Amino acid sequence: MKILIRWKQRERGSSRRFIPSTSGRLPLAYPLPIMARTAILGAGFETHANVREFPPGWSPALARFAPESLAGPAQTLCWLARALASKRVSLPPLRAILIAFTGETYGELGAAGRSLLSETFRVPVFEQMRNASGELLAAECAAHTGLHLVNSLQSLGSALLEFDSIDQGPCPCGSLLPRLVTAESVKSGNDGHKAAAAG
Ligand SMILES: [Zn+2]
Repeated sequence: MKILIRWKQRERGSSRRFIPSTSGRLPLAYPLPIMARTAILGAGFETHANVREFPPGWSPALARFAPESLAGPAQTLCWLARALASKRVSLPPLRAILIAFTGETYGELGAAGRSLLSETFRVPVFEQMRNASGELLAAECAAHTGLHLVNSLQSLGSALLEFDSIDQGPCPCGSLLPRLVTAESVKSGNDGHKAAAAG
């Protein structure tokens, strides 16, 4: 089911992490305040001492880098998860997060892909929907209650079919940007809040 809701353009002051790149390379849009040592399985992204690009999939250089966070296309990360689970390759355990790019060139994540990644890597998964050029369209925040739109609804195209509705209510992360939500993301977000309150 898909429900589309009209909304007014909102202030973007709370989304300062999503600043457009001036280098011609794509910003990673790391979703947490402190960027851990991150390996990006792909090319064309901004890199620095703590963030490096690697070929898609597994490589000896990736294992030597011992990333704390991994970022890459959802289909690549799922391939790597299966390869690790079957012990075809090995990697030091992640300690921070996983960033899964989705969209027409990156593949879908879905509930099955998300549980494969979280069960294999045992770190929080953040989805980032990107267009064919890799530009960020919508990104999951630390509240895990859907993907905040950082671009126009029209730019999402057929990717919208993956989502059930658009939530314009306030997000626990503080952002006012509307969120693309699925039934699963609403449920997991609520569970997360319960867990946080209990813990
Ligand atoms: Zn949020």
